Amino acid sequence: MARKRVHSKEVKEAVLQKLAMRGVLLDEIAEIVFEMQRPYHVYLTMKMCLDSVLRVLEKRELQHAILVGIELDVLAEKGLISEPLQSILEQDEGLFGCDETLAIGSVLGYGSIAVTTFGHLDKHKIGVIKRLDTKTGSGVHTFLDDMVAAIAASASARIAHKQRDNEEHDEEVENERMDKERSEVNGGAWNI
Ligand code: MG
Repeated sequence: MARKRVHSKEVKEAVLQKLAMRGVLLDEIAEIVFEMQRPYHVYLTMKMCLDSVLRVLEKRELQHAILVGIELDVLAEKGLISEPLQSILEQDEGLFGCDETLAIGSVLGYGSIAVTTFGHLDKHKIGVIKRLDTKTGSGVHTFLDDMVAAIAASASARIAHKQRDNEEHDEEVENERMDKERSEVNGGAWNI
């Protein structure tokens, strides 16, 4: 039986709910974005970073990866996965790799800056990523830390590209203004 298609707004809502449910604040992700992009943009604000986080969460590749990742974490936390995967996920086995693979796949739409930023975050585990990666109690965050890194990396890359677009736009406006000025001067000279 064909089921109705799920609208991406519905999926985005679910993603926001799941992230909140798993104790991740969007502000915490925005803080990582700020740290990643601040050296390149003097005028960067936390609001711009938070906006970018919200925008990348509209992308299906990210939404789907986040839902899959969190679902597996939750199932593992409840002990509902068959062995040996249950133990691998519970232990956050270092050589597992599917968490990073899922996360990297989800950032590809934002290009090489997103991929290299993800690599950096995966290695250095900044802010909330560090908190999630630190094993405490019975919580399983095997996928979540990588998903948060994927969101932060995508939002960072989006800012980098957007900044360049803005600069190019400003340059074009300035060139047009100078062209206009020049033609007015020439026109004026011709009229004398
Ligand atoms: Mg992981």
